[in-house]
Order: sequence, then C-alpha cells, then structure tokens
Amino acid sequence: MVQPSGNFFAYPAAADLIEREAGARPRFWVTIDTEEDFDWEAPFARTGYRLASVPALADCQRYFERGGVKPIYLVDWPIVADDRAVGILGAAHDAGTCEIGAQLHPWVTPPYTEEVNARNSYTGNLPADLQRAKMMALRDAIRDRFGGAPTVYRAGRYGLGPDSATMLAELGFRCDTSVRSGFDYRAGHGPDYRDAPLYPWWVHTSEGAILEMPVTTVFGGAIGKAGRPLYHRLARRGTHVGAALARLGLVERIALTPEGIPADRACKAIDIAIEQGLPVLNFSFHSPSLQPGNTPYVRSAADLDLFYRWWDIILDHLARRGVDATTAAEILAMADRQSGAIPPR
Ligand SMILES: [Zn+2]
Repeated sequence: MVQPSGNFFAYPAAADLIEREAGARPRFWVTIDTEEDFDWEAPFARTGYRLASVPALADCQRYFERGGVKPIYLVDWPIVADDRAVGILGAAHDAGTCEIGAQLHPWVTPPYTEEVNARNSYTGNLPADLQRAKMMALRDAIRDRFGGAPTVYRAGRYGLGPDSATMLAELGFRCDTSVRSGFDYRAGHGPDYRDAPLYPWWVHTSEGAILEMPVTTVFGGAIGKAGRPLYHRLARRGTHVGAALARLGLVERIALTPEGIPADRACKAIDIAIEQGLPVLNFSFHSPSLQPGNTPYVRSAADLDLFYRWWDIILDHLARRGVDATTAAEILAMADRQSGAIPPR
C-alpha cells in the first residue's frame, strides 16, 4: 500500500523515481511558457499587458518543426483568449506537430478575487478553493478552444503549493512541470526547490498520481555534483557569490534555457545531464522572448537572431550526443511502464 505523500515537496521514495530505461538513450523536451508580454520589473497587474509577441509563435513553431521537435506550449489565460494564438497553435496541435498544456498566471486568470501582489503571484499561496477555481477555469478554456483538456500543468513562477498535486489529479491532469530543481524562491514568497530531484517522479495523492517532470538545471564546475550544497550554502551570503564561484570554475549552476545561458554552457550542461543518467532533459523558455523588447534576454533583433542560433547549436549538440526529442505523451508512457506494481490512477 502506497502512502500518498500528497505534494511535490516531500522527497520521493526511490520506487517513485523514473530512471532511464535499460538500453534507452536520454531524450529532450522543449517546454514553452506561452504567455502575455508584460514588464518583468513592474508590480503584477491584472491589466495593461500586451500580446504583441503572439504572431512570433508561428516562426517558433516553424523552426521546431524543421528541427523535428514537437514542443509543448504551456498556454495561460490571455493566450487562450487570443484568437491569433489559438489559430497558430490550434493548427499545429491539429497537425500533431506540438502539444498544448496549461500555465497558470493567477493575476490574469479568473476568478479575480485575490489582491494582486507578489505573494499571490504564486498560485500555490492562494486559498485552496481559489487555486482550484483558477485551475479549472484555465483547463476548461483550453478544452473549449483547443478541443482537448490539457494533461500537463505548469504553475507560473514555478508556484506550486501543498494542495496543488491533489487538485491537479482531481482535475484530470497527469503531469506537472513546475518544479525548478536547484532554485530557491523563498525570498520572494515562493517555493524552495533547492533539493528537488532532477529525475521525474510520481507524486501519489488521494485523487491519483501526478508525474512531476522538473525543469532541468545542473551543477557543474571543478567540484562537480558536490557543488549543489556548496552553491546554496554560499549563495545565501549574497547574490554575486554564484557568479564568483562560476568565474573561479568551482561551482556553476546551469539551467537548460536560451534565456541568459550561453550556448557553450548549455552544451556543457547537456553533457553533465547525460552523464548523470537523466532520462529526460527539460528545456524551457518564455514566449515573449520570441519578439525583441519583451524580456531581459531578447532586447534587439540581433538578440533574437542569437536566440535561434542558440537553438541551432543546442539541437546540433543533442543530435551529436544521440539525444532525440520527446513529448509529454511519450514521457508519461515511459513513466507508466516503470511504475510497476503501483499503477497510477
Ligand atoms: Zn509565466
């Protein structure tokens, strides 16, 4: 009898960790936080956002199609409400060249009853009923607009709470990808994922099992794997410590994202992730980065060019290392095969 841990913050039992199958190669997954353009430096607001980057989703989809990659667009409420976005992504979804999941930005998702502030920007901090109502509104809107209920969820700002897993299972989701292993958001009222696994794992709840598929971040540098605890111990002393450690070549935290991570570092991270035996490398970025001027990472046309060159280099490196693209459907099938005596409900 499996005791449901019920949430994403309990360290999983060994039996619940999903490993690379015998003889299998690692795979990679491209997850895109597909959302409105807003000022990342300004306080959160229910209104005043833009959707100028939506047409750029078509370029993005064409790029990944050419590369044989089926990305998953984790769409939030303003995107689902936008006819152009639904036109572009719906056509790709119907053609079987992408997947659609849910991403919840609570401040722009009904019901609009909570005060808008930094704490409430993490859905997991909201009262359970409100969190559930927002998840349900988003799920139903995606179902109505894309012709299928989403099975994959990401909390905006990685904002899971203690009730989130049970709620997701209750609402028919099967996979969550909100855990950002190696990051600690407590200073801004968010969750602490410092010690979260990089492997996928099953979270058992009273409503069924949810597969957690964490966003991949590895620790490299001269002291290798042992660097993760050291990084966190020193990072508490100040924000520049991480950069200093990387410069010294001691410990480096590398997220698999084109946003702020140079291509050569990301290639290094891919090699480390392969060596660590991860079954799936989970890449992520935000759709507003597809148009210059929306995020700190893509400020100009030249930056956007670099953004796609980054992917050229990464896809090339992955191909050289024998790492093929995967999808949520394939990841879930792999996890189901491994769950053995514990069939997820
Ligand atoms: Zn987001």
